[in-house]
Amino acid sequence: MTLNVQHEVSLKAYNTFGVDVHARRFAEAFNDDDVREALAYSASHDVPLMVIGGGSNLLLTRDVDALVLRMANRGIRIVHEDCDGAIVEAEAGEPWHPFVLDTLAQGLAGLENLSLIPGTVGAAPMQNIGAYGVELKDVFHSLTAIDRHSGELREFALADCEFGYRDSLFKHQPNRWLILRVRFKLSYSANLHLDYGPVRQRLEEQGIKQPSPMHVSRAICAIRSEKLPDPATLGNAGSFFKNPLVSAERVAAIKLTHPGVVGYPQADGQVKLAAGWLIEQAGWKGFRDGDAGVHALQSLVLVNYGEASGGQLLGLAQRIQADILERFGVALEMEPNLY
Ligand SMILES: Cc1cc2nc3c(=O)[nH]c(=O)nc-3n(C[C@H](O)[C@H](O)[C@H](O)COP(=O)(O)OP(=O)(O)OC[C@H]3O[C@@H](n4cnc5c(N)ncnc54)[C@H](O)[C@@H]3O)c2cc1C
Repeated sequence: MTLNVQHEVSLKAYNTFGVDVHARRFAEAFNDDDVREALAYSASHDVPLMVIGGGSNLLLTRDVDALVLRMANRGIRIVHEDCDGAIVEAEAGEPWHPFVLDTLAQGLAGLENLSLIPGTVGAAPMQNIGAYGVELKDVFHSLTAIDRHSGELREFALADCEFGYRDSLFKHQPNRWLILRVRFKLSYSANLHLDYGPVRQRLEEQGIKQPSPMHVSRAICAIRSEKLPDPATLGNAGSFFKNPLVSAERVAAIKLTHPGVVGYPQADGQVKLAAGWLIEQAGWKGFRDGDAGVHALQSLVLVNYGEASGGQLLGLAQRIQADILERFGVALEMEPNLY
């Protein structure tokens, strides 16, 4: 028995919004045995299990009446290598950005555009994290999860995960699969994606004509640091709303009053609208109600200026949703996981 179960623990330090709610029970899993012990504890004490990583995609609106299990298992290893590249396996509790830097330092390309995303390796497949034109699925090889019902281990290949835009099978079955470790297919030759946002321009400004994956990572870190608040100083969970997929007819209707509407046509005929643009047009950028607000520079990011409760942040998010629906006929979907 190694699992250290604590009672009535504040989760303020375990969610990047910095919301101060309590967990009825709290423990950290350093290995597979701890995970099995937590599952057994949850069953024998009749208390639900809630798994967290870095808490950077959570909005906690009340005390958590569960055993909160923070994944803290660590380890990075190459499990297969040939002259083209390698399959790298990382334990779920590995912090994401240091893992990205570790692979780049080994000369492996593929994760550079996903630099500086907070959180852990194990949570990354949950919403198929993405940034600057690359999604986790583009470099995903496979993962190992434990079935919380049967306790059996299961391997998931790419085709099993049903990855979509900020979406996966695991997001749809949140209490079924606990991800233990993830494998990535990385390459020794770089196939760089520079055409999303200001990445190429940033590299050119720095006089970098033949960028390496490490150059791209550094450029993206710099861009992200300029436009996204650091949760260490201002509580937030990154983008709070997904970019909505709407019909071409809806875009045409919006264009009548807002000719500058920002949208990206999709292969299926739908258009992905920039949620941040909609929110900014509606006048929410920089809005503040008590300690809950919309970031002054990035309207897609809700922030906690100090003592906002999860309920206040949720209330603000719902007001924005209702306003965007009324003004543009577009339903915004929240990105963080609500509790
Ligand atoms: C400043 C900032 C910028 C961000 N930028 C981006 C971005 O560019 N792109 C992007 O996609 N996201 C972004 N995010 C969101 C977030 O960082 C990612 O979703 C990240 O993968 C969440 O990891 P986490 O470990 O913090 O997960 P948590 O918030 O702890 O958990 C998220 C969900 O995953 C579940 N979960 C966690 N670990 C496991 C596990 N091992 N097995 C099963 N379920 C698990 C939890 O139960 C919860 O439902 C950003 C967040 C912040 C604060």
